Amino acid sequence: MLGTMLHATGDIRIEDRPDPQITRPTDAVIRTVATCVCGSDLWPYRGINPVTSPTPIGHEYVGVVEEVGTDVTTIKPGQFVIGSFIASDNTCANCRNGYQTSCLNRDFPNGCQSQYIRVPLADGTLVATPEQPSAELIPSLLALSDVMGTGWYAARAAEVKPGSTVVVVGDGAVGLSGVIAAKEMGAERIVAMSRHASRQKLALQFGATDIVDVRGDEGVARIKEMTGGIGADSVLECVGTNESMLQALRSTRPGGNVGFVGMPHDVNVPAEELFYSHFALRGGPAPVRDYLPDLIQRVLSGRIEPGKVFDLTLPLTEVAEAYKAMDERRAIKALLKP
Ligand SMILES: [Zn+2]
Repeated sequence: MLGTMLHATGDIRIEDRPDPQITRPTDAVIRTVATCVCGSDLWPYRGINPVTSPTPIGHEYVGVVEEVGTDVTTIKPGQFVIGSFIASDNTCANCRNGYQTSCLNRDFPNGCQSQYIRVPLADGTLVATPEQPSAELIPSLLALSDVMGTGWYAARAAEVKPGSTVVVVGDGAVGLSGVIAAKEMGAERIVAMSRHASRQKLALQFGATDIVDVRGDEGVARIKEMTGGIGADSVLECVGTNESMLQALRSTRPGGNVGFVGMPHDVNVPAEELFYSHFALRGGPAPVRDYLPDLIQRVLSGRIEPGKVFDLTLPLTEVAEAYKAMDERRAIKALLKP
């Protein structure tokens, strides 16, 4: 099969790779229908995370089940499935508490930018759609594998409620998905912080009520002006840099909530500032699996269209261009067709 390998910083290649096999009785092998490049794939691509040896890459996928192991009971060959970027049994105590990304048996369906994928813990990880979805629904279903579920978790973690004022820091696919989530959860005012025209436009389509196109102290001042001088009830941090984290914290009102889902890189939060702020901070890798059944329904009913975050579609063989376009911010998110 063809699969994507990251060889070194900036060196991404499509190659002949061994076909994935069932290696444990709880595995499934799926034929990839669509996959994509994640903002977090850019960390090693840019050399921010070191690449020590050639590595299969990609963790977002939808596909059709080809084969299942002998212990798999609910997932069947032929089903169209969506799974989380972290495999979970969905039965342990952490899973039952709704934190499948901290599953006691968690595993990783790695190397998903490929024609076939081995998914561990198939019964716990994969969710099948009632029937084969139409082609136009595929991008939105694919978005549920990571970005939409992550945006949903950011909004949950930030305790967005009907009537809330919400600020979303980050205008990548996760931030834009966070706008969808805040809208679905009944937020009254949703401020998207973005300096890019195409992303601002999409944020407004997804339900943002305001755009703030400045950052840092100026951005904080703007948010304060908009919120009677106190800051927002809920802030979604969807980037992971020190600058974006401070932006999020300082845009939150005393007693408000921050949901942070950007993978932190060199983030240093001053404890004293946290102490005096009175706000609650919750984050981490999103338990996407917990939200899949609900989000699949919202996509199938046409209520949400997170697939609009894909503004570039390429054949899998052009994966190098997909990375380049996202790295240069020419694309928000690239969908790959095997
Ligand atoms: Zn578990």
